[in-house]
Amino acid sequence: MRHDAPLAGPVPTRTTCPYCGVGCGVLATPDGKGGATIAGDPDHPANRGRLCSKGSALGETLGLGTRVLHPLKRNARGAYDRVSWDEALDAVADGLKTIIARDGPEAVALYLSGQLLTEDYYVANKLMKGFIGSQHVDTNSRLCMASTVAGHRRVLGSDTVPGCYEDLDSADLMVLVGSNTAWCHPILFRRIQQNRAERGARVVVIDPRVTATAEDADLVLALKPGSDSALFAGLLVHLADAGLIDRAYIEHHVAGFDAALANAREIAPDIAAVVARTGLSEADIAAFYALWAGTPAVVTAWSQGVNQSAQGTDKVAAILHCHLATGRIGRPGGGPFSLTGQPNAMGGREVGGLANMLAAHMGYSPAEIDRVRRFWRAPRMAGREGFKAVDMMDAVADGRLKAMWVMATNPAVSLPRADAVQAALRGLDLFVVSENVLSNDTLAAGPHYILPAAAWGEKDGTVTNSERRISRQRGFLALPGEVKPDWWIICEVAERLGFEEAFDYAGPHEIYAEHAALSAFENAGSRDFDIGAHGDLTRHAYDGLAPVQWPVPVGQAEGTARLFAEGGFFTANRKATMRPLALPALAAATTEAFPLLLNTGRVRDHWHTMTRTGLSARLSAHVAEPTVLVHPDDAARFGLAAKGFACIATAHGTVVLKIALDPGAQKGSLFAPIHWSGENASNARIGAAVHPLVDPFSGQPEMKATPAAIAPVSFRSRGFLLGADDFALPEGSWWTRVAVEGGLGRLFATQADAAELMQLAREAFGAEGLIEMVDAERGLYRCSLIRDGRLAAALFLGPDHDAPVWDAVKLAFASGEVDPRQRLALLSGRSLDGAADQGPTVCACFGVGLNAIRAAFAEGASVTVEEIGRKLKAGTNCGSCLPEIRRIGAQQRVEVPA
Ligand code: SF4
Repeated sequence: MRHDAPLAGPVPTRTTCPYCGVGCGVLATPDGKGGATIAGDPDHPANRGRLCSKGSALGETLGLGTRVLHPLKRNARGAYDRVSWDEALDAVADGLKTIIARDGPEAVALYLSGQLLTEDYYVANKLMKGFIGSQHVDTNSRLCMASTVAGHRRVLGSDTVPGCYEDLDSADLMVLVGSNTAWCHPILFRRIQQNRAERGARVVVIDPRVTATAEDADLVLALKPGSDSALFAGLLVHLADAGLIDRAYIEHHVAGFDAALANAREIAPDIAAVVARTGLSEADIAAFYALWAGTPAVVTAWSQGVNQSAQGTDKVAAILHCHLATGRIGRPGGGPFSLTGQPNAMGGREVGGLANMLAAHMGYSPAEIDRVRRFWRAPRMAGREGFKAVDMMDAVADGRLKAMWVMATNPAVSLPRADAVQAALRGLDLFVVSENVLSNDTLAAGPHYILPAAAWGEKDGTVTNSERRISRQRGFLALPGEVKPDWWIICEVAERLGFEEAFDYAGPHEIYAEHAALSAFENAGSRDFDIGAHGDLTRHAYDGLAPVQWPVPVGQAEGTARLFAEGGFFTANRKATMRPLALPALAAATTEAFPLLLNTGRVRDHWHTMTRTGLSARLSAHVAEPTVLVHPDDAARFGLAAKGFACIATAHGTVVLKIALDPGAQKGSLFAPIHWSGENASNARIGAAVHPLVDPFSGQPEMKATPAAIAPVSFRSRGFLLGADDFALPEGSWWTRVAVEGGLGRLFATQADAAELMQLAREAFGAEGLIEMVDAERGLYRCSLIRDGRLAAALFLGPDHDAPVWDAVKLAFASGEVDPRQRLALLSGRSLDGAADQGPTVCACFGVGLNAIRAAFAEGASVTVEEIGRKLKAGTNCGSCLPEIRRIGAQQRVEVPA
């Protein structure tokens, strides 16, 4: 019998997800047409094969439609001309030389990103701090976890995360502080939930806002914004008064305990004081303290709710103090744990990408500067800390900085006072941006040169996740057009500046090996960051590098999972240092004019400024519009209606957002997403409204508590557009762009009426293939443009109180041929197959909408999340939506009692 061996399929590439700091392993299998199928890597310790909704959709974000593929130079008219790499690189180098000669090296700066790979970061940092001699290198990680870095360094003596993800599996108590883990670190949340289900671990959520993470928690502490350190100071006092301090650990491994405890007693002498500062009930505080005190295997994890604060460093310190005082650090299932936001924030910290670090976790002491100088054989070392992000943009605005090179980030959206940042960038003598995309808000500031950089899927290097695990990010797609890796671009400029020998790398493997060698240089156990075992890694070994946790010094085969259980802090006396904290307070108080606090953060299915997730229709269907979450009582107070619009104003700027009522919002607080920009919405760049007040140690801005006002905004009509990407809406319209199957759509609101929109549509589309329905009296206008038997474009308009729903027309837009029966349906706006409006998508994997889930829950009070999964498939793949499904069920049970 003949037996043909099966043909070998395409080989998947092991790489890592480019989004959050969980750092999930991904198997990417190219399809040969520029795309790839995506699966979780079952062998990666971070995710063991799982991916969240964002990671699962990576294959939908690989197109080249929005990419910049060639070096571009701005011409005298402000437009861009394609130029050769040589011309662009020569011009960037010459521009830098001129400014350095005229104004000195401190007139030039780099603004980097947690999206860069470690190798890119390393050469950028080396060029600036060792060869150009400017200390002004900072990164968007300043907005993400700088307070954790400062807190770690002040208390632990080094920027070291003591624990590992396995602790989330074995902890008996998980305390999540200022962290919507369910949405922002979904795979870790699933590990926590699994621990809860299998081992009975308990979960406490501490957050002013009751988020999806709080669903199913054992205790939810919705404390006043800015009061976290009071809660933990009170815990320290409670531990001391209950005799639960680990005196032996403190004696051997911790300095400053007595002073820190005395300070904690000033802040929170008793529970009554904690009640007053936090606004929590005495019973809840007592329950939390009893739980924490009585559970040795406790992990306290935090993210941006702690970091993005003008007292973020103190908040981190307050948490660290409780773990140090009880010796609960670096033990299985126990320890403080910072969950980083970005995929390579940790790698940036390791190379020294923050302005207050030099390199390889070394700072700016004379001995450290000298050590790095000798290692790099550097001609011109930076001698002191540089501008942190907010100060850096102030220095651009007032002319102290003349040249800036921005890489892989979008500061004109993400920084506080984003409008002022955009304006300041326009005034630079030399403004260079290395980017993947052809258009964003930072590029709108008009850089002199745009350098096309490799994107995820094309890049090759390493990243480090929240548990200190270094993983390879491997390319599986060819570099398109003239795109180049960031490290190559930097080294080419370095060569043109005369530093050829020091930047002559054959590839990222050589850069990584040098970075590893620097980490071990004159280290001998004195510094935490030591990957000396990789200092002589060959290209082959680098290509095959398995995920490994640092430190991994010379002679050590395996990485290190946990640190500090037996002390050994990286300080002169090997002790950690507890620090007195400032009295808890927000940087700015509310006023009569600005009576609310504006909190900003992420939604589940988008990432940063949406340049990647905004390409996926299913990710865009979860939260399609920029929306402000308001407590129902505040909505009543300010005359706001659900699904209406509101103007949010601060002393720095305004935005207009859709309104959603959220009983989980704290009264007096607003929550707005960070993702929308001038690219994808008319007026929703929330960074423009955020104040620039920063933590004194970390320089991290308080992005979660800007005093704000809110007022309703009304429009005459609302509608949607499908296709017709260049259709010009009437001036003053509000709109947001949304990826849909088959192209792009826009949701909009306008003061124009049906007749005006009809006029515009006719001018834009012409008569051929246009089918229309107008009812001016009712304020209705609907038109569909059929070209070659397909729905090429559609515009639907209705009165403000009766906005058209686009679900059915989206289906037609995504499908192939439109038959005569469907043409009539297109004008009615009703589903072609009679299906009901699904509402916003909850389960991105299977496209299950809110309305379907509500209907399923409404069938009976006993309907479970598992039954919803069996019936609708919702939540049965990546599981990112499970907390929301649980929440919908809980709300339904309250609203419709059985
Ligand atoms: Fe990517 Fe999701 Fe994993 Fe984060 S949790 S790394 S976004 S797959």
